[in-house]
Amino acid sequence: MSESNGKILIVGAGPSGLTLATELTRRGIGCTIIDKAAGPAPMIESRALAFNARSQSILAASGVTEQIIAAGHMVDKIRLCWNGRLRNEVSMARLNVHTGTDAGLKFNRIVLIRQGSVERILINHLLSLNVHVRWNTECIDFEQNDSSVTYRLRAESGDIESGEASALIGCDGAHSQVRKQGGYSFDGESDAQSWTLVDATVSGLDVAHTLTADLRPGQAFATMPIEDNVVRLIHNGPDILKNHPNAQFCTDVHWESEFKVSYRMVKSFARGRTFLCGDAAHIHSPVGGRGMNLGIEDAATLAWLFSKGREKEYSNMRLPVAKKVLKLTQQQTTQMNSSSRVSSLVKQYAPKLISLPFIKRSTANSVLGLDTPYPAWQS
Ligand SMILES: Cc1cc2nc3c(=O)[nH]c(=O)nc-3n(C[C@H](O)[C@H](O)[C@H](O)COP(=O)(O)OP(=O)(O)OC[C@H]3O[C@@H](n4cnc5c(N)ncnc54)[C@H](O)[C@@H]3O)c2cc1C
Repeated sequence: MSESNGKILIVGAGPSGLTLATELTRRGIGCTIIDKAAGPAPMIESRALAFNARSQSILAASGVTEQIIAAGHMVDKIRLCWNGRLRNEVSMARLNVHTGTDAGLKFNRIVLIRQGSVERILINHLLSLNVHVRWNTECIDFEQNDSSVTYRLRAESGDIESGEASALIGCDGAHSQVRKQGGYSFDGESDAQSWTLVDATVSGLDVAHTLTADLRPGQAFATMPIEDNVVRLIHNGPDILKNHPNAQFCTDVHWESEFKVSYRMVKSFARGRTFLCGDAAHIHSPVGGRGMNLGIEDAATLAWLFSKGREKEYSNMRLPVAKKVLKLTQQQTTQMNSSSRVSSLVKQYAPKLISLPFIKRSTANSVLGLDTPYPAWQS
């Protein structure tokens, strides 16, 4: 079977690919979206949790943000502890700095929501627009010329289909096949340290609507509420159920995972008629909850550029943003992993400095994801 519709082919239906399909469709640009998996990310094993203010402002245009806010868990406070002792409790309302934009003022919280929920909301939104993700469909290979890309897919039936698209966009995650086959470099480094996380039902722990970071020399323990009595515990070391101070409150563990942190990104986000969005183009530490959000930004930016016929500008527009976020998350992670005296002093006293106006503003912008360029189409 041959498909030749000249549409854009999106490879991967994670948060980046689904956002791209949503934004292209909203702008009247036809696309086909495929994923080799049988369906969206499992609800239990959710990697991303944080849906930040920048993503909220981007997906508000399609009405998706409202649904995500309704389904998610809003963060009202951040508790900052040193060695188990509370150093500062910051209200998100008080962090709300004037960003000079309506969207920035409207969306001034982090919403915690499982990646699987975000994906399902986007999939249902696309279904309402008659865009169906083709599951169990894998991009095997492709070739491009100056104006189009021919590709081969392994369809759900097992048949090999060939087709032609005006552009092929790899939203196919950290191990992106589009990136590998497209000849993109993906340089960077990996930390030796392992991190662990646990999602669990808790009893007797009052952390609803509150993010807690408990820093100690060389160690970090975070607690993030997913629902009123369900939390994610995360630790930059092993044996989380033994070491995390809040593990004693866990009554039912839903998911436990160990992972290592890498910092890698492409040198270019596009080659000819192929483009990359999200983890396919950059991976970094989960500190700050930026990964999924950065992919949503990439995708929305690329859709806007396509609508203007300016997609050649995409790579130059996104490279500095990804570089900045990688650097920031690497600095934050290094600081958390460090047990030096200087770092201990910073971790002990920085929470108190957050009330200073300049620090308050830069902290708010970074926490909310508003430290990346304001979306040009919203100006
Ligand atoms: C432990 C952990 C915690 C995290 N926490 C956060 C957080 O709090 N906040 C945050 O923003 N981010 C977080 N992240 C990062 C976040 O999960 C990723 O940045 C996000 O999933 C990237 O989305 P994506 O759509 O680019 O890629 P993915 O979600 O990886 O989706 C890629 C899709 O492509 C499909 N695919 C792959 N190859 C092919 C092919 N050849 N053909 C067809 N389909 C293909 C896959 O099946 C998959 O569905 C975390 C990550 C980890 C590991």
